[in-house]
Amino acid sequence: MTETDLAHLRDRMVDIQLARRGIRDRRVLDAMRQVPRECFVESGFEEFAYEDGALPIASGQTISQPYIVALMTEAAELQPTDKVLEVGTGSGYAAAIAAQLAASVHTIERHDALAKIAARRLAALGYRNCVVHTGDGTRGLPDEAPFDAILVAAGGPTVPHALKQQLAIGGRLVIPVGDFDGEQSLLRLTRRTVSDYDEEAFGAVRFVPLIGEQGWAEDGARSA
Ligand code: SAM
Repeated sequence: MTETDLAHLRDRMVDIQLARRGIRDRRVLDAMRQVPRECFVESGFEEFAYEDGALPIASGQTISQPYIVALMTEAAELQPTDKVLEVGTGSGYAAAIAAQLAASVHTIERHDALAKIAARRLAALGYRNCVVHTGDGTRGLPDEAPFDAILVAAGGPTVPHALKQQLAIGGRLVIPVGDFDGEQSLLRLTRRTVSDYDEEAFGAVRFVPLIGEQGWAEDGARSA
């Protein structure tokens, strides 16, 4: 496929899968037109890169559906001066979208193999404002906090306390909360004061589990 073909597929994805379904933020739509999703899928899956769904990646994980990436990014209301934390790097695709819109992005992945591949990809594509970490993202990244926005790309039983604490005043935390292997509700918490958070729901979603100290245990028990 030529670059022109791929740009055409990206435009179609934005128009049909995102704008028609209610994604309105012009900056988010533009970012989704620019990031080459075919570079973030597994070899052999490039022809499916602009289809309307999640795709398998290494370590038994997934690259999220484009619509969900757009929905979460829009809900996070990223600003050009923002410092962002993403939990669940996966392929690195959502981190690249955030890096188009914010000043800096720290993204953390529990599978070291995925973190290494994503870091290589993001560097090769020229994303110098994006740092990939390996570790348990339910603890956040205390050394880098506070964050203006935190995006969690895996579903937890509750909102991890550490992430709430690492949000700047005025900051937005977008996270799916609900069942281990069923549906979750996509929540946005906005930190109003040191101890007050507004909470809004953005509908039902289905994510892989958030595994960690303040998430689920590997067997689906609550570790938080
Ligand atoms: N944002 C990714 C992308 O654009 O490809 C998709 C992420 S995938 C749906 C969720 C990821 O969260 C998986 O790669 C999984 O290993 C990771 N994950 C789950 N629990 C985690 C944790 N506690 N800390 C960091 N990563 C975690």
